[in-house]
Amino acid sequence: LTALFRIFEGYDFLIYLDNAATSGKKPESVIKAVNYALNNFSANAGRGGYKLAVDASNAIYRVREKVSSFFGASSPLKVAFCPNCTHAINYVIKGVMSNGGHIAVSDLEHNAVMRPVYKTNCDYTVVETSFTDDKITTQNFENAIREDTRLVICTAVSNVTGKIMPIREIGEVCKRKGVLFLVDGAQGGGVVPINVGKYNIDFLCIASHKGLLSPMGTGILIAESDIPDTVIEGGNGINSLELKQDSEMPEGFESGTLCLPNIMGIGAGIDFISKIGIEEIYEKEMNITSFFYENLAELKDVILYTPYPEKLSFAPVLSFNIKEKHSEEIAEYLDKNGIAVRGGFHCSYSAHNKLNTTDVGTVRISPSFLNSMNEAKYTVNVVKKYNLFLKS
Ligand code: PMP
Repeated sequence: LTALFRIFEGYDFLIYLDNAATSGKKPESVIKAVNYALNNFSANAGRGGYKLAVDASNAIYRVREKVSSFFGASSPLKVAFCPNCTHAINYVIKGVMSNGGHIAVSDLEHNAVMRPVYKTNCDYTVVETSFTDDKITTQNFENAIREDTRLVICTAVSNVTGKIMPIREIGEVCKRKGVLFLVDGAQGGGVVPINVGKYNIDFLCIASHKGLLSPMGTGILIAESDIPDTVIEGGNGINSLELKQDSEMPEGFESGTLCLPNIMGIGAGIDFISKIGIEEIYEKEMNITSFFYENLAELKDVILYTPYPEKLSFAPVLSFNIKEKHSEEIAEYLDKNGIAVRGGFHCSYSAHNKLNTTDVGTVRISPSFLNSMNEAKYTVNVVKKYNLFLKS
């Protein structure tokens, strides 16, 4: 399988363990699809009636179909392509909350959620989540819903702790209570199963450059419910003689030229994952994550922030620290030894506030199914060496 992936040119040695930031290796088939689009589809989709422009639009539609069936949406027309997941989240939060109301949001959210929530000026409740008992998390969400709650927001997977959230159960609560449900699928999409229809999700936002193994610079919005207001207006090839932009999916949220090569890459990424199987990918990633956990847990000065990453409860994201060290220093040491991990705050005030790590951040390891056990062993040895060196 590794033969299907390029190595990092210019690096003699690199162990890439920052797949929660972006998938470090894109399949050859994704690169080919992007190249094919650049060579053959450089016409502006939805902006002309000539054959090449129509072919480009049709090619995009086929990827809408793939996304829609991969995430269980009711129609390909519920799928919009955005500049990234952050834009998609902004469209939902600002569009849905334009008339006010209350928001209930988990205590593990990324700033891509918390900053737009804050910007709305709406009242919001941060819901405490549990690492060990999903029933408590679900109950806490239910308790936080008020008469005026319009939107419940929960990440599918925490980008700092790897916790898989009980989005299916929270979706049931939202349906029963009649409130809209937004899932931030940036870390979960392509990593754990997410089904918009079965989980009662109104809005799902995806960072396709992560779990869907496609290029950076494009994200996905799936909207099963109306978003009453647009957030970014402009040309979208629809009703061009009217100044007011309609907020209908998908074009209402696709202002400006789409990144067609990236969209082709998303289609190829979904094909790649579907062929291997999301469960098989997850299984391999979790074996490596558990190996890291078990071996780091043996080191006296290592702090781990979650319980053991049980399968189906956690995704392949692990945070740790070494006592009395700043996470960035540890990450820098690993980098000098050819290992790419992310230290610091991972753009999440909420998660670091919950972990009490707003002073030093954490070192985050996020393996992919392409990492080997040998790479994991090497990495653990480097951490051990650093730990010994600190004590000497
Ligand atoms: N939510 C979470 C949980 C994330 O991890 C990220 C990316 N780090 C985002 C949202 C935003 O994704 P993007 O940067 O692709 O817009």
